Amino acid sequence: MAMRNLFLKHVAQTSPAPMALEIVSVEGIWLEDKQGKKYMDMICGIGPSLLGHGYPPIVNAIKEQADKYLHTLVYGEMILSPQVQLASKLASILPGNLDNVYFLSAGTEATETAMKLAKRHTGRYEICAFKDSYHGSSQGAASLMSDDYFTSAYRPLVPGIRWLIAEDESSLDRITEQTAAVIVEPVKAESGIYPLSESFLIALQKKCKDNDVLIIFDEIQSGYGRTGYMFAFERYGIVPDILLLGKGFGGGMPLSAVISSKSILSDLSDNPVLGHITTLGGHPVCCAAGLAALNSILENTWLNEIPDKEALFKSLLHSDHIIEIRSSGLWLAIEFKDALTVQKVIAGALKEGLILDWFLFNDKSIRIAPALVITHDEIRLACQKLNAAMNAL
Ligand code: PMP
Repeated sequence: MAMRNLFLKHVAQTSPAPMALEIVSVEGIWLEDKQGKKYMDMICGIGPSLLGHGYPPIVNAIKEQADKYLHTLVYGEMILSPQVQLASKLASILPGNLDNVYFLSAGTEATETAMKLAKRHTGRYEICAFKDSYHGSSQGAASLMSDDYFTSAYRPLVPGIRWLIAEDESSLDRITEQTAAVIVEPVKAESGIYPLSESFLIALQKKCKDNDVLIIFDEIQSGYGRTGYMFAFERYGIVPDILLLGKGFGGGMPLSAVISSKSILSDLSDNPVLGHITTLGGHPVCCAAGLAALNSILENTWLNEIPDKEALFKSLLHSDHIIEIRSSGLWLAIEFKDALTVQKVIAGALKEGLILDWFLFNDKSIRIAPALVITHDEIRLACQKLNAAMNAL
């Protein structure tokens, strides 16, 4: 049976119309399918392939670690050099209170762990989250989703969630002495790229301080250079108590992290012992890939180039169908009048050889979030293709 038929028959899908591209080779932002058609990847798998596909330093680090050992015992019991090196490197570039790393595999696990940690640390159980934010699909993380469409079939979820509204300071009154933590994306990703304002985040920080509430920044999508800053919180000068990383953090491998102070994270090791455990989180091969990704970002000039690349995208995209372009670094949302237009543009772009996507909570916008390594010429070519798709409507 053809691979496509086997895929449809045996691999579970999450939408009725999967893209079903059969990719056979990759390089940088380019993917090639079985028929020899080349695609420019403008979403890098919704984040993980942050440095492009097949980036040699990452691939080599994976091979070298695979030759040494794959898996022994991961959660803070054995001294695994890729974990130790990655945690130490992160501590060296993060503010002083973020010096302890709990490794996991997926973004949603980082959210779960942070929710548990906040409860354990504060002795409270309420958690405040923002409407139209996404923090993962497992049950705790799904409880933080305000959108009934995605959650009503899966109730009951975790109780004690209070909703905040971005830029609405009156909603911050829901943060009280009962609140364990507020979880916030500095740039609301799945709403369609809405950076929070500095004044709003400062008001949020004050409210948390007044009530002894932990601030969790979910930088699973915004972290690691996407916004032009290594971490989006740097732009605001606000340091969270707990930082969540994932996606590009693993250099294309499954890796995520909850980062906090040693005194906060040590709560997971005591009363009860093994407060949160994971058999595969912080897998040495994934940490080796993550370390290579981090070193590569720090050694190269990609972050400095992001403002130019962002401006180039914005200057080259032209169509009467565009209502608005929002951006935060190399992360753009193009808004159209309705979801049907978005679907048509995505389908037209795919024919042109351009892979795009929409957003979970904004189906009127198209997502552009290519690998940081994209060149100026590749941006010009991608915009040509996208303009062709938009103007063929
Ligand atoms: N938080 C944010 C901000 C995300 O964008 C995502 C994934 N889209 C997650 C958490 C969940 O990550 P994962 O899919 O790896 O569980």
